[in-house]
Amino acid sequence: MKKLALRTFLRFSFFSLAFLLASLSLPAGAQETVHIVKAQESLTSIARKYGVSIAELARHNGLDRNAGVKVGQSLRIPGVAPTGISSGLGPNVERAIRGANVKRGRWKYIVIHHSGTPNGSAKGMDRYHREVRHMENGLAYHFVIGNGSGMGDGEVVVGRRWTEQLDGGHVASESQNKVALGICLVGNFDANKPTTKQMKSLNALIDSLLARCKLSAKDVKTHQQINVMHTRCPGMNFPARAFLKELRERNK
Ligand SMILES: [Zn+2]
Repeated sequence: MKKLALRTFLRFSFFSLAFLLASLSLPAGAQETVHIVKAQESLTSIARKYGVSIAELARHNGLDRNAGVKVGQSLRIPGVAPTGISSGLGPNVERAIRGANVKRGRWKYIVIHHSGTPNGSAKGMDRYHREVRHMENGLAYHFVIGNGSGMGDGEVVVGRRWTEQLDGGHVASESQNKVALGICLVGNFDANKPTTKQMKSLNALIDSLLARCKLSAKDVKTHQQINVMHTRCPGMNFPARAFLKELRERNK
C-alpha cells in the first residue's frame, strides 16, 4: 500500500515537474519583436518596415490606427519573432521579404505554379529560363519552394525578381507579368501531391507577402485561374479549392 502511494506521489511529482518546465519554456516560444519608436517614425512607417498592416499593428498595441506615436515608445510587432520562428519561413527569407523596396500598388496578384517535374531547384530553373528560354532576368518566378528533391523539402528560395522587384515571367500575358508575383512549388502535381512542408511554407510565404504588398486573399490565384491560355498548372492534385478557402478564412 505504502509502495503504491509512493509510486503515485513520484509519478505526480514527475508530471508537475514536466508541466512546470513546459510552462517555463513558454515565453521563449512566444517571443516577439519590440520596436522602440525613433524620431520621424509613424505607425504607418513602422507597419511598413515590418510588413504588417497598420490596423494589425494598432490592434496589437491597443491603439487607434490614427494614433500618433512618441519617440521612445515601445511597440510590440505582431507575428514577427526576432528569429523568424513565428512564420516558419526562417530569418533570411523573412528579411528578404521585409527588405525589398515594395512600391505601393506594385503587385496585384500572387500566382501559384508547379514545376511540372518530379524534382528541381531554383538554380536549375534559373539556368533553364536564362539559357533555353532566353530570359535575361533568369528565374521567371519570384519564389521557389522545394520538395526535397533538388532543394530542401519546404525550403523557400527568394529570387532576384523579388529582391529587385522585377516583373515576373511566369504567365502568358505580359501585362499580367508586370503585376503578378510568381511562386513555384517544385513537383509534378498531376502525378503527385505537394508535400506537407511545401504547403506549410506556401501558407507562411503567402501570409507574409499579403501583408508586405497590402494584398488580400482574393488576389491569390492558381496559374490556371489567371492564365489567358488554358493550363493545368499547378496540377490536378494541388488542393486549390481547400487552400484558397483556408487562406480567405485566415486572412479575413
Ligand atoms: Zn504555371
